[in-house]
Amino acid sequence: MTRFCIYCGAEDTPDNPVVEGVCLRCRIKRGEIIEQVKREIRVDFCKVCGAVRIGYKWIDTNGFNEALHHIVYNQLKELVKPGIGVDDLRIDGYELVTSASWRTVVRVYFRGIYGGKEFVYPLDFIVYLNPTKCPRCKMIESGEFEAVVQIRDVHVKDLEKALEKIFSRDKRLRQDLVDYIEVKNGIDIYFYNHGAARKLSRKLSNMLGLVIKENYEVAGMRSGKQRARLYVSLKPSNLSH
Ligand SMILES: [Zn+2]
Ligand SMILES: [Zn+2]
Repeated sequence: MTRFCIYCGAEDTPDNPVVEGVCLRCRIKRGEIIEQVKREIRVDFCKVCGAVRIGYKWIDTNGFNEALHHIVYNQLKELVKPGIGVDDLRIDGYELVTSASWRTVVRVYFRGIYGGKEFVYPLDFIVYLNPTKCPRCKMIESGEFEAVVQIRDVHVKDLEKALEKIFSRDKRLRQDLVDYIEVKNGIDIYFYNHGAARKLSRKLSNMLGLVIKENYEVAGMRSGKQRARLYVSLKPSNLSH
């Protein structure tokens, strides 16, 4: 039996399929192809370092543009629902209607299938970046660490394996750990004291053949004593200068 669109009377064709009595063109014209549940989204953005919060995770970015990219591909699909007869809905691309800022209008192109025919449909969203401080920047600002081990240019899998081994066997070291932060080309590990940082550095150096370099930075007074923060850099020996 031939199917016809109840609105325009068009016959079902591969190019303009009729699903549940409505053709693709009418679905689009009536704004029913995708339901925009929310037009706006507010996302935490660290005003100090530019990290953006996607779900429970903070992701490093180099600014508004990169933050928007993460938001579009990770969060905006949750703001829409496929219309009747729509399958395989996904984000195909986007463009910025206003320039990237604390409030940005983003046009997102959704791709989907309606009655076997592929379509692309644009929807505009307003993305608000909520200026805040990420846990890392709060921790660094609070100054509640005495030492940082900065590991660079080590194969990620080797490094993770070594760290797991060291930390799983050393409860004291785990207690002295403040935070563990992935950065470009490596990991920064923050400690409450110098001894823990030195111990970890020594062990990593032995396991992975890394060169240790120590630096101090004056970090104010505490209990009448001058504090010096310890920075330990660990790099493969072939990369050291
Ligand atoms: Zn129609
Ligand atoms: Zn931050």
